[in-house]
Amino acid sequence: MYKHIYKNLETFNLKGLGEKTNKGLKKLGINSLYDLLYYFPRAYDDRTNMKKIGELRGEEYVVIKAKIMSLESPQVRSGLKMVKARATDGTGVIELVWFQMPYLKKTLKVGEEYIFIGNVKVGYILQMVGAEYKLLKNQNNLGGEILPIYSSSKEITQNTIRRILKEAINNYLNIFQENIPPEIISEYKIMNRIKALKSIHFPENDKMLEEAKRRFGIEELLVLEMGILEKRFEVSSKNNGKYKLDGKSNLVKEFLKNLEFDLTRAQKRVITEIHKCLNEGKVINHLIQGDVGSGKTVVSTLLLLYMIENGYQTVIMAPTEILATQHLFSIKKAFEKLGVNVELLTGSVKGKKREAMLEKISNGEINLVIGTHALIEENVVFLNLGLVVIDEQHRFGVVQRKLLRDKGILSNLIVMSATPIPRSLALSIYGDLDVAIIDELPPGRQPIKTKWLQSEEEKEKMYDFIDKKIKEGRQAYFVAPLIEESEKLSIKSTSEIYEEILQKLPKFRIGVLHGKMKSSEKDQVMKDFKDGELDILVSTLVIEVGVNIPNSTIMVISDAERFGLSTLHQLRGRVGRGEKQSYCFLLSKTRNEGSGIRLKILEETQDGFKIAEEDLKLRKPGEIFGTRQSGISDLKFIDIVHDVKTIKLVKDICTDYLLKTDGKIENEFLRVDIEEKFKESLTS
Ligand code: ADP
Ligand code: MG
Repeated sequence: MYKHIYKNLETFNLKGLGEKTNKGLKKLGINSLYDLLYYFPRAYDDRTNMKKIGELRGEEYVVIKAKIMSLESPQVRSGLKMVKARATDGTGVIELVWFQMPYLKKTLKVGEEYIFIGNVKVGYILQMVGAEYKLLKNQNNLGGEILPIYSSSKEITQNTIRRILKEAINNYLNIFQENIPPEIISEYKIMNRIKALKSIHFPENDKMLEEAKRRFGIEELLVLEMGILEKRFEVSSKNNGKYKLDGKSNLVKEFLKNLEFDLTRAQKRVITEIHKCLNEGKVINHLIQGDVGSGKTVVSTLLLLYMIENGYQTVIMAPTEILATQHLFSIKKAFEKLGVNVELLTGSVKGKKREAMLEKISNGEINLVIGTHALIEENVVFLNLGLVVIDEQHRFGVVQRKLLRDKGILSNLIVMSATPIPRSLALSIYGDLDVAIIDELPPGRQPIKTKWLQSEEEKEKMYDFIDKKIKEGRQAYFVAPLIEESEKLSIKSTSEIYEEILQKLPKFRIGVLHGKMKSSEKDQVMKDFKDGELDILVSTLVIEVGVNIPNSTIMVISDAERFGLSTLHQLRGRVGRGEKQSYCFLLSKTRNEGSGIRLKILEETQDGFKIAEEDLKLRKPGEIFGTRQSGISDLKFIDIVHDVKTIKLVKDICTDYLLKTDGKIENEFLRVDIEEKFKESLTS
């Protein structure tokens, strides 16, 4: 049975797999047979590259061939058992030392030749501690042997992993049925699974190793992409029906007439693109990407109106109450002028008011519901939901997306991403979405002057500068250092900054915003700030995304080194939203090189796509997008930023395949692998 590969290791009969070894393997993340065989070497020892002792210069991991000249077990201190050997290959002498392996005194033989593998230390004498050893005369095909090197641990040595893997490969390899459809295997000349598993662990030669690596690169992407694309086929095979307006919406026209600005070309392009899909009867399934401030909201607003006039209900889901409330503020007035009913549904709408609202949602009275994940709750039922818009996508997982979408009678979905990401990455993370990019900022935006301030002196100057700017009528954000999601600490960190500002800028009105406040209190503070009743807003990360107050032109971020690059870019994006020159001050005394690089990048560029790319170079994608959401952080062979070609290839392979099969995955083994992969990402 194929499914058995996902069963725990102890259900298999593997020689040498005792309780202790099993525990050790678990610690390395190896639970099932699959985990074991897919525990690939982190490197290989190419025996063809054996070194001479006389060539050894620095500290390195090497393979040598040498004859043991002497062997002893000196008494160093009680309890410490040491075996020491001296060996030579005619070009030099090396000392080999093992601890707590007293039996080696008997196993190793003076006068015999061995292969030794390990780290060389160069001190007063060349030394290798804990080297792996093999009797030379037992090594038959020495010339071509390439040995795997695994990440090992205290409990599990290299040798144990190799032994268990050999066992598993000898006895259970046949369970690993081919999970790539045969026509793909032959068309793309992919090494078959069994051969590849053998070759990745114990390659016969370099060429086979390379082919095995290629195979697993394709396989891991294939499992991921097939799974994602299959869902998309499910969606797009649904028919969306006809829209009576056929593109001519009065609401849209009216709304545009009242709008204070003209849409940018990029905005128009994206709207047209999505409209076209709708009118062709396709289910829309779009990711709208655009840098901070590129005006994603208005784009989705126009699509909402179009759907509403066609008689459907619509939803906007935002990750925080603040953001949901802000959407409400910015949309409600304009919509009500047009006779569209808009309501806000968040966790803090309770009791009678909530009941009444749910009633109006279920009978279709409300045309647009703006809210947080409270919208996902079961008792929120729509009469005829036709379009879901999700703002700042990376905060929500695939599951939440699906739950909300399933409430609709049409499955139209638009997500707006706050984090601009390279297209290749978007393709794989959001493989189930069409990506539309707004690659243009509204006119008149000035670059935000960004400065990394390292000294107290510079900070003093900054306060003088802010003093001047506020007197000119501007406002300022101060962001408190990032602290683990502890509410107590978040209060502390905001109040420290508050105290400092109070001292340096005593004449101004200061508001504070932190995680511990009730949402009504937060709303009030935000409102006061927006209305200009406050000059300065001290806040924790809650203002990271989406907040839009053009008169606030100064952003000060304390302990900036604690934030990731993308987060800093988002925070900075809170300013520079109007016509006035904006400023961002990054306060940090860090001497850490990596942090320094990040802050420098921010000083130098404002291009969100470039920043995201830099960020990806510095961190793993999983850290940015959340491990479980995407499955991409488990990729072992594919470098999501650079392997654009393979990603594209696999995407095409999958699309072709699904087109031919009508969206069904017919290979039962691939089926099982996909279920397994997505089970993992749904449950955690
Ligand atoms: P984001 O893409 O970061 O979500 P928003 O949709 O919040 O950006 O828009 C940022 C600001 O730019 C808002 O104040 C919005 O009204 C304004 N804006 C959007 N489109 C345009 C445009 N074409 N011309 C001028 N201002 C615009
Ligand atoms: Mg936004």
